Amino acid sequence: MRLSRYFLPVLKENPAEAQIVSHRLMLRAGMIKQASAGIYSWLPLGFKVLRNLERIVHEEQVRAGHIPMLMPTLQSADLWRESGRYDDYGEEMLRLSDRHGRDMLYGPTNEELITDIFRSHVSSYKDLPLTLYHIQWKFRDEIRPRFGVMRGREFYMKDGYNFDLTKEDALHAYNRHLVSYLRTYERMGLQAIPMRADSGPIGGDNTHEFLVLAETGESEVFYDSTVTDIRLGDREIDYDDKAQCQAVMEEFTALYARTDETHDAAVFAQVPQDRQRSARGIEVGQIFYFGTKYSEPMGATVQGPDGKPVPVHMGSHGIGVSRLLGAIIEASHDDRGIIWPEGVTPFHCGIVNLKQGDDATDAASNQIYAALSAAGLEPLYDDTTERAGGKFATMDLIGLPWRITVGPRGLKNGVVELTSRRSGESVELSPEEAVKKVAGIYAPHHRAGAHWEPMARQSFHTWL
Ligand code: ATP
Ligand code: MG
Repeated sequence: MRLSRYFLPVLKENPAEAQIVSHRLMLRAGMIKQASAGIYSWLPLGFKVLRNLERIVHEEQVRAGHIPMLMPTLQSADLWRESGRYDDYGEEMLRLSDRHGRDMLYGPTNEELITDIFRSHVSSYKDLPLTLYHIQWKFRDEIRPRFGVMRGREFYMKDGYNFDLTKEDALHAYNRHLVSYLRTYERMGLQAIPMRADSGPIGGDNTHEFLVLAETGESEVFYDSTVTDIRLGDREIDYDDKAQCQAVMEEFTALYARTDETHDAAVFAQVPQDRQRSARGIEVGQIFYFGTKYSEPMGATVQGPDGKPVPVHMGSHGIGVSRLLGAIIEASHDDRGIIWPEGVTPFHCGIVNLKQGDDATDAASNQIYAALSAAGLEPLYDDTTERAGGKFATMDLIGLPWRITVGPRGLKNGVVELTSRRSGESVELSPEEAVKKVAGIYAPHHRAGAHWEPMARQSFHTWL
């Protein structure tokens, strides 16, 4: 993309309404614009990152064997009356009625709708196990929407639902979700720690929340500091292997890590004192096993092996896709702006032409642009006539991890400058070497396990 043809409405001033750094930077970098309280338009740069996160979530869910689909935002109140949640959900549910006076609601989550789909089409245990998921906008009429996309009223969520014959199978689905979520967050450059949590209005006993540690987080958390040393990395996972998924789950949940709702001071006291931590965290996902809580009242049964009908065991599993943008920025920024992890960056590399209109720098910048594109990368070329200081400030603000600077003086010596946004370090290289270096940096993100390489290069529409 050439910046002169793009829509990147960056703000010079700090917006007064933004209380936390991620909200401030998303507004300043021209990623979002508030439409009304807790509801945002996604401007091109923000939309690009949102799509990147969505793609990673899809890839990791499909890899775990879960099946993508799409359910609507507006739902009929009748289904929620069946489960008993129409009254239980309270003020957070946005209720409306259509022209025929039918009660509708904007879905805050989808357990009822998916259970209805299941009971209409699945009748035998032979069709199990089944895990369906979608990524769709949700609406919760939060009493205090704040912090930009972190606590919106309209927000984008991945929610998945497993249907299993036995508790054992459903717990395997739980473990599968836990492992696939760990992988998802790591690919986004984030550490999200699974913590024992409270199940709230969804119900059930088995639940973990995934928390990104950040001072601005809304949750209070308590953990054993060694839990932050564990990484999934690129180990091979066989999602059909119950024992392997169980072992990973145990590895990641054995150490003390809990939110304040489940915190137990007596148990925490047994953690060696120098490893006891209390901090704040951002909840970026949650997984639940809730047994037959919805299948029983809603009649989601299958014919078991003995011919008798049995209610299915279910769980639901959510990732806050839009909230993740804020969480990543909270975890990765400096005083000049955002620093995108390579896995999610909206453009792979910035190109700054220090003397736009100069034949030599224009030609070299164009060549670099073409070579990066040919390598399968998406560069953002600042081809405007703004002065160098302004160009650097914009690139730093929008946080592209790599920048190639093309200036007349360097070109005389046959070099351009490659700069890391994170470390600030620069090296002088020939244009060809600079392109090769950047392509090499991104290679693992296109590889990272042979399974997703072919998918990563396509847009998610082509393989869904
Ligand atoms: P919270 O405790 O933050 O209100 P929740 O526990 O009610 O969230 P879940 O039902 O577990 O939310 O939803 C799954 C994920 O969706 C959460 O882990 C979070 O990342 C995201 N999410 C929930 N509410 C919001 C919101 N108002 N704005 C943005 N993301 C949200
Ligand atoms: Mg939650």
